[in-house]
Amino acid sequence: METKFRESINKALHNPNLTGALGRFSEAYRISRQKAYEGYDFEALRTQIAERKSYAASHLDELADLFTKNAEARGTKVFRTNDPAKVREYILNLARENGVKSIVKSKSMASEEIHLNKHLELAGIEVGETDLGEWIVQLAGQTPSHMVMPAIHMTKEEVATVFNEQVEEGQKPDIPKLVKFARAKLRTKFLNAEMGITGANIAVAETGTLVIVTNEGNARLVTTLPKIHVAIVGLEKLMEKFEDVVPVLTALPKSATAQLLTSYVSMISGPVPNTDGTPKQLHIILMDNRRTEMSQDPKFKQAMQCIRCASCLNVCPVFRLVGGHVFGKVYTGGIGTILTAWFDALKSSDDIQGLCIQCGNCTEVCPGKIDIPGLILELRRRLAVENGQPLAQKAIFSVVNNRSLFHSMLRAASLMQKPLQKDGFIRHLPFFLSEMTEFRSLPAIAEAPFRDTFKKIKQPAGKEKIAFYAGCLIDFAYPEMGESLVKILNKAGIEVVFPEGQTCCGAPARYSGAYEVAAQNANDNINALLANHVTYVVSACPTCTVALKKEFISTFESLGQTASLPRAHELANKVIDFSSLVKKLVDEGRLKFKEGQQLGKITYHDSCHLKRTLHVSQQPRELLTQAGYEVAKMYEADMCCGMGGSYSLKLPEISAPILERKLTNIKNTGAPLVVMDCPGCVMQIRGGLDKQTSTIKVEHTVQRLACELE
Ligand code: SF4
Repeated sequence: METKFRESINKALHNPNLTGALGRFSEAYRISRQKAYEGYDFEALRTQIAERKSYAASHLDELADLFTKNAEARGTKVFRTNDPAKVREYILNLARENGVKSIVKSKSMASEEIHLNKHLELAGIEVGETDLGEWIVQLAGQTPSHMVMPAIHMTKEEVATVFNEQVEEGQKPDIPKLVKFARAKLRTKFLNAEMGITGANIAVAETGTLVIVTNEGNARLVTTLPKIHVAIVGLEKLMEKFEDVVPVLTALPKSATAQLLTSYVSMISGPVPNTDGTPKQLHIILMDNRRTEMSQDPKFKQAMQCIRCASCLNVCPVFRLVGGHVFGKVYTGGIGTILTAWFDALKSSDDIQGLCIQCGNCTEVCPGKIDIPGLILELRRRLAVENGQPLAQKAIFSVVNNRSLFHSMLRAASLMQKPLQKDGFIRHLPFFLSEMTEFRSLPAIAEAPFRDTFKKIKQPAGKEKIAFYAGCLIDFAYPEMGESLVKILNKAGIEVVFPEGQTCCGAPARYSGAYEVAAQNANDNINALLANHVTYVVSACPTCTVALKKEFISTFESLGQTASLPRAHELANKVIDFSSLVKKLVDEGRLKFKEGQQLGKITYHDSCHLKRTLHVSQQPRELLTQAGYEVAKMYEADMCCGMGGSYSLKLPEISAPILERKLTNIKNTGAPLVVMDCPGCVMQIRGGLDKQTSTIKVEHTVQRLACELE
């Protein structure tokens, strides 16, 4: 990670205006978005959008031709190019031919993408942004930090200072007055401009219509007052039919700003006369800039389903801390990272892809149904192929890939750590490692791993056998969680099998883009776990469960290792997470809770992979309630705790404030005990609470339930 990039992260984290404004906005957004969608079937709506946009992405050429034919039939000039330089050249030539000295613009990410303003200004043409946020950012000499709210990172005080310095003295930090001032100044610009430039939200092929959505009405003035209107339209805006507009217009305002409707929806089908009766010039530039290539890429085609609502930014736990400017380019957030890799260069995403913590919040709200974290992993894979793996990482993975060496090293570390540990925690590490224990204590490596203690457990022979996949954390840090799991399944008459050949699930390698390593981990585990005849393979770590159930398959698919797929599917069909299995056993009457217990208050934290990838969130809550607990609702219970596997080691400066927020939310419930289904979250949250010398206890659900079952 480049030092400059790290510095920009730290600068953002230490800007209270930025973190304060974004934090407040993202909290309010989650609630108001939910309200805006009340009465709508979001899943059905986004399936419709994804299907229609996916169809368009598969027929780009055809739709671009149809759009051109229909728009030209109405008197519009359409220019199509793959080259951003040609877009700039076309607009500059048009301006020169028509003696244009002043241009007004409404918000257009496509124009930002090609740095149009700078190009025109260098040629001596005045360019004025008219979207209020864009104008503020332009006056401040900055770039937009957010796709929909370009100046969200600025406070009213900062805006007043910009107006005072760049436009006219005497402006106070009073929002209605600042808006009134901006409106008056922008009116003159609209009236004097000879050319208006816009983007478009949708381009309808069957009618040649542009659909432009704004809240301020500025696009109406930009498209009507100047005698020339130029629209720059990225090819991803093409949709086949006029009826396709409906689902996008239904979702866009709700997802973007949590509004039921946007204030202004303009539909432009051909030029209309100017106010003096002369004909208007309407030019539409269909800009490719690698969009066709993207639509032909089997992995990244889905990124063409984006409707640029920025919902993914609004719910991202990292974005709300660091804002958009750390992304360094035009597009920000998770989807911005993907667009930067395509519209700029793959290597431009090298640092910024590391910001994604893989929590999946974005995918849950995306109206285009885009698997943003999955695409970021694919970027990592391609970057690792292009750049090669860093040497240190290569060395680590070569150890992880050698199971006996890896396990011997963990056993040795268990002995070496003795002087550093107390009460099961390592609270301080020396030298350059000290950063790892600054914001949370680390768990000590267990004296004996689960694979050793398991051999000593005397199990009653059961008719049914279930294999247990422990994962590294339970095996080497929290063997007591594994012991609790065996105890519970034994109570249901099930014998637990622990296949010795199991090893790391490959998540660390996969999340670093090292797919070859992840594939070897997958093969080793498949061989070990399918060696016994068992009804299920259970895991009490959601990250491992997702690896076993989904990621082994996708890793083999990405590498084209199709021969490994049938056994990966065979394993996937047997894999179940711990809470779902216990819920099933309780429902079948094979497990019973002790009767009449009133156990008091408890609270539950949702692990990202369990809630969003495996869609399990009610089962553990129901089990705890059945056991006799009062499960107190935690604010943002399903928000990431900042662990993210090795993320908390790579970016502790981001992991720490995310954890801090989680700990506050836990404390606010008033519960003396917080439980969760993930040993990684236990490590992060328990370590954080220990660092704060809190008395709140942290347990895995498996430990809690083991105490409450008959
Ligand atoms: S990726 Fe999805 S959530 Fe993000 S801007 Fe695009 S459509 Fe909106």
